[in-house]
This record gives sequence, structure tokens and C-alpha cells, in this order.
Amino acid sequence: MKIEEDTDLLLIVDVQNDFVTGSLAVPGAKDIISVINRYIKRFKHIFLSRDMHPVNHCSFVAQGGPWPPHCVADTDGTKLYSGLDVPKDLSIVDKGISIDKDAYSAFEATQLLEGTLLHASIIYIDTIIDKLDLSAHLRSMGIKRLFVCGLATEYCVKATVLDAAKKFDGPVFLLLDAIKAVKADHENMGKAIYEMTKSNAIPITLIT
Ligand code: ZN
Repeated sequence: MKIEEDTDLLLIVDVQNDFVTGSLAVPGAKDIISVINRYIKRFKHIFLSRDMHPVNHCSFVAQGGPWPPHCVADTDGTKLYSGLDVPKDLSIVDKGISIDKDAYSAFEATQLLEGTLLHASIIYIDTIIDKLDLSAHLRSMGIKRLFVCGLATEYCVKATVLDAAKKFDGPVFLLLDAIKAVKADHENMGKAIYEMTKSNAIPITLIT
């Protein structure tokens, strides 16, 4: 498949330290990093989503939520995984910023940061949009096809793909070789991929 430089966009979901090596590490997450890096080389338009929570976020166990603390703002856990070859011109969308609302889908991101990668994880931010509507934003960019990869298959990748089916006007491709599930069994990963393809996402592998 030929990637159309101007109208295709790669959306990399939550490849952050806490989901690769930290408090909510997805087993085998490191295995997909080199594949994602190869996808990064093929796209001109790339967005990266991040989970970004305040310290007492409602999704944490102490507040009655299902998860241990993760991706707390201003900690290493929120940083994009160091093995990721993030493009120099960065577009990052942050979700789960409000203390009382969780957000799995990148389409629920409320903030867009655009900036430049200066060195390793040092990012210079030059534009902040804090009332983001991602689907409207992608439309204004002229994006016609969306390619989704990242972590974790049955949580934020699934939520993003199902949301894209409703909010994005164009084909959505699920990059099967660049996603990883927390539980790689039929009940979890299998069901998630089934639900995504049922919502019209097209499962493909372009690299492996
Ligand atoms: Zn979270």
C-alpha cells in the first residue's frame, strides 16, 4: 500500500514510559517499538497521544478507579518512550487531564501540543490548543485516512479506533504488527480486534 504523504496520518497511541516499562507496562510492549519506528519513517503526518493525569486522578485505585497510579503529569512515566524515534516536528494530543474524568480514546484528548524535539525527551512547545476537537482538527488538515498503532490493544487503541469509526470521515486502518495487548488471549485481544474490525477498521500489516 502506498502512503499518501499529504492526506494519510499515523496516530501512535500512548507509547509512554509507564505503558512500556513503568507502572502499567504492557507485556512485550518493547517488541513493537522498532516496528512503530519503521512506520514513523513512512508518514509525514504523525500524531502521538499521551495519557496525562493529575496526581489524584479518578482512575487510580486510591480514588476508587481500576488502575495503579500511572502517567502522572510532570513525571517520567508520562514521557514518550525513549526508544521511539519521534519526529522532530511533534504533534502530541493529551487525554485524561481532568481529575474527575477518564479518557481512553485519543479522540477524547482535550489538548494539542505542537513543538520541536530538541534532544531525547526535551520538547520545545510552540503551540498549545487547549480545547481540542481532534476529528475537526484532522479534517481541517485535510487528512483522509487514519492509521492507528500503539498501546494497549484492548484499551486505548480499541477506544481510539471505535471512536474514529464515529468521528473520523474516512477509512481507519489498524496496524496489527504495531499494537500490543495487556492480555494477548482470545477473550481480551481477540475480542478487541473483532470489535474494531466490526466497526469497519481495516486490519493490516505493512511492515512485518
Ligand atoms: Zn490513564
